[in-house]
Amino acid sequence: MTSVVLGDADVAGRAADLARRLPDRLAPLARLALDVSVTWRPGAAELWSRIDADLWERCGEQPVHLLQEAGGAALERAAADDALVALMERVAGAGPAAAAEDLSPVAYLCAEFGVHHALPVYSGGLGALAGDVLKEAADNGPPMVGVGLLYRDGYFRQRVDLSGWQQEHWDRLDPHRTPAVQVTRDGAPLELTVPVGDDDVVLHVWRVDVGRVPLFLLDADLPVNAPHARFLTARLYVGDQDLRLGQYVLLGVGGMRALEAVGVEPRVVHLNEGHAAFAALELVRRARAERVSVDEAIARARARTVFTTHTPVPAGNDTFPAARVAHVIRRAAAQAGIGEDVVLRLGRTHPDDEHEPVGVTQLALRVSRDAIGVSRRHGEVAREMWAALWPDRDVGDVPIGHVTNGVHVPTWIGRPMRELLDRHLGAGWIASAADPATWSGVDAIPDEELLAARRAQREALVRQAAVRVPRERLGRGDTQRYAEAPALLDPDALTLGFARRVATYKRLHLLLSDIGRARGILRPAGGRPVQVLIAGKAHPRDDDAKSVLQRLFQARDDDWAQHVCFLEDYDLRLARSLVQGCDVWINLPRPPLEASGTSGMKAAMNGALNLSVLDGWWGEAYDGTNGWAIDGEPDPDHAAADARDAGELLRLLQDDVLPQFGTPAWADRVRASLRTIGPAFAATRMLDDYRTRLYDRA
Ligand SMILES: *Cc1c(COP(=O)(O)O)cnc(C)c1O
Repeated sequence: MTSVVLGDADVAGRAADLARRLPDRLAPLARLALDVSVTWRPGAAELWSRIDADLWERCGEQPVHLLQEAGGAALERAAADDALVALMERVAGAGPAAAAEDLSPVAYLCAEFGVHHALPVYSGGLGALAGDVLKEAADNGPPMVGVGLLYRDGYFRQRVDLSGWQQEHWDRLDPHRTPAVQVTRDGAPLELTVPVGDDDVVLHVWRVDVGRVPLFLLDADLPVNAPHARFLTARLYVGDQDLRLGQYVLLGVGGMRALEAVGVEPRVVHLNEGHAAFAALELVRRARAERVSVDEAIARARARTVFTTHTPVPAGNDTFPAARVAHVIRRAAAQAGIGEDVVLRLGRTHPDDEHEPVGVTQLALRVSRDAIGVSRRHGEVAREMWAALWPDRDVGDVPIGHVTNGVHVPTWIGRPMRELLDRHLGAGWIASAADPATWSGVDAIPDEELLAARRAQREALVRQAAVRVPRERLGRGDTQRYAEAPALLDPDALTLGFARRVATYKRLHLLLSDIGRARGILRPAGGRPVQVLIAGKAHPRDDDAKSVLQRLFQARDDDWAQHVCFLEDYDLRLARSLVQGCDVWINLPRPPLEASGTSGMKAAMNGALNLSVLDGWWGEAYDGTNGWAIDGEPDPDHAAADARDAGELLRLLQDDVLPQFGTPAWADRVRASLRTIGPAFAATRMLDDYRTRLYDRA
């Protein structure tokens, strides 16, 4: 089938280039390396590592990089390995049937996408979610294209120094080492221009195939652009307001122009978070080109646009001085045939208040026909937060609904658990993961099988951490004795996980608040051993969060710290290892600031149990049998709430979690967790909801 969407020929050309250095028999590997959806097919990791296990690890488990670097001898050996070739054919055949090309898919616009660790164009939960949305759409629809920015410096890498202070560095991304393929037209890079302030910023477009879902990433790092314009696609969420607004114009206006250039006319434009709100300018421009009034043009833009808000704190929703916004969008608005004052008014809670700054969330709410939060509770919080935009409505009638987040099960589930569920839920269970009946088979899984799969996953994590932790400790200058603290990593110990952004509201400090008592729990006299694995990055400018991290490190000489390991540089890959291997996933957000959270869902799909504050997704998931809960009522007295919640955490650990670990009661809880959380928080359910509540409501 010849495609009308640009980029197909570029992907084929890149695959042919990659295949040139492969023996004929292995040529299909080139295409597999360029398709991100291959990463979650059973057998894929084994396939790559079988070519050259050592190189696979050294190149960071990146298929394109592996094929570029593999030596001639290894490739010849692989080509002669019949089992490897059979595995390759099995992995190649495991993709979904090719769908007819859909030229009016849903366009999903987001400032970050976590589709593969080789493409560090994400920072945290928002990107992980956006990645899971594309992946699920690739497996089960609806037809979709993603649009984002190709950050050339990626997100920062984390190191912690000997004083416990986080240090950041940025690795320059070389797209040729990744599955990203440059889109060309008539033999030259596809080029578009977007007015940002006084600059005409020239963009190139890259395409990353996530199965049948293409992700288009915009790239301003071109010699024709001024240095500051080149920097627009260097880093995620830069601090300077003009640069950040410029990024948002590129994402919204540039994103829609890129879709037009590649031949996609989306039926729905989904703004995932307010960063993409300027997409409306481009939709207005097209309507104005048909000579309709400004009001009618905005109405037409609205009819095609839907919006997900993610941020339940006012300060987390970007606002900018009106003069800055006016400057940055002036020419884009002129091209759209509307005055910039119209846009400024749409972006204010009180349009007539000329002193009010302009917010991209307000703008997104006003240019969308439907808006949602990311959990039931967050829907309520968002209706209250934005009620002033609808002054004639009661809070309950504010038109913001919710679709609770979900996670892409094939990505996050570990191999032992996947094989266990394949045996007990029947082949093809993953495609019908949203159906509660699919999961009824978990009740018949014998305790021994369940606990054996759990142990296998815990052991894999422990094996990884046992390499990683000493290297990180030695690297920051710790003593060899501390670096190799022997008591820590036990494949049979109850393993508690706490990994997420180190933001103050996530309350990592609660783990440190009663060290005397924690010591008794972590070193039970004659009891079972317990270990705690912690990971997470603080935002580079968040010194409060860095201080919390530093306190954790300053406690390292205490004997309880022998059972606590910090793992540097939290990313998609480390998240995967942790959610697969930990037994209990701890989350302590200050309610109601956890919009949803998704890492606990990933852990639950792996048979871990959640111990969390009843906020975000856990508020609607916890049923008394499927994990443990800490009260989620907001309390304005933060110190009192912290003391209470820290006490409750330790009490639950001591009285419930530790005594039950490894017992039949534990297996019961895991089965209840899989049976209840599996169907409700699989991304399949989330996209079903997107379809019925957002996309098909036109
Ligand atoms: C899933 C995931 C998140 C989101 O985690 P929460 O703590 O639930 O918000 C953040 N970062 C990475 C790398 C993830 O994989």
